[in-house]
Amino acid sequence: MNKIRLGVSTCLLGHKVRYDGGHKRDPFIIDVLGKFFDFVPVCPEVEAGFPIPREAFRLVGNVDEPRLITQRTKIDHTDRMITWAHARCDALAAENLSGYIFKSKSPNSGLFRVKVYNDKGMPIQQGVGLFARVFTERFPVIPVEEEGRINDLSIRENFLERVFVYNRWQSFASNPSPGGLVSFHTVHKLLLMSHSIEHYRRCGKLVASIRQQSFTDLVNDYRQIVMDCMKFKATIKKHINVMMHIMGHFKKYLDSDQKAELLELFDRYRNEFVPLIVPITMLNHYVRRFNLSYLNDQLYLNPHPMELKLRNHA
Ligand code: SF4
Repeated sequence: MNKIRLGVSTCLLGHKVRYDGGHKRDPFIIDVLGKFFDFVPVCPEVEAGFPIPREAFRLVGNVDEPRLITQRTKIDHTDRMITWAHARCDALAAENLSGYIFKSKSPNSGLFRVKVYNDKGMPIQQGVGLFARVFTERFPVIPVEEEGRINDLSIRENFLERVFVYNRWQSFASNPSPGGLVSFHTVHKLLLMSHSIEHYRRCGKLVASIRQQSFTDLVNDYRQIVMDCMKFKATIKKHINVMMHIMGHFKKYLDSDQKAELLELFDRYRNEFVPLIVPITMLNHYVRRFNLSYLNDQLYLNPHPMELKLRNHA
């Protein structure tokens, strides 16, 4: 199988491209994600023609439209960087990226809370790096995160789940058909439900109206709602709701001891004594044992490779 492709800030991959000649090698990205993903490295500053080492940049002025200025010599490189960023995004459109991990705090690569300095030299941490802004405006549905934030296990799980969903969407979109959309929706139902019931319902309504509107418009609307849905965190309460729903499909096959045991596992998960993988493993066991085809196909039960251990934290 081809590996899923992720854009990554080059310095996170251990390349010495930073302004001071150093790197910011990220062991999780390289050693763990590297087994499952192919990386497309992007260093805006070096690729836009700035040397290594170089004078550091900072963002200055209006938070929504800051200028990119060299710290000591105060040269404005905004236009050069933005022109390069648009051209690089043209090239990235052909790379079939399913996600992007940006380097935090950088005036070009940072995605959240980048410092923007006012005319008195005081920073406000509300900016977006110039390249990160151009990228996210050009590819608004591609899942994006920063390397620091994916150390938070719930953010990591959410980001990577979005990447896998988007990658499956790309497979569907490479040869879209009404039947393909119904299949995509069917296998994702419980996964969507675990993120946002409201978005799940909106997706269902769209698919049900497949013959009543332009297929292209419907596909675009559906993609937007699915990716918005996946941004909501799947909380313990939402997982319990989905797991109770799954249990409802085979409750009639269980004796009272088995039911009590399963409900007890849900309770332990609710109280954070065991991680999600524990009740999910039991549900998978019953789904296989009773050979329930609707549930067998539900990606909720196996949304990403087990080796990533995304459901192993309480
Ligand atoms: S943060 Fe971005 S611009 Fe800076 S060295 Fe890393 S990849 Fe290059």
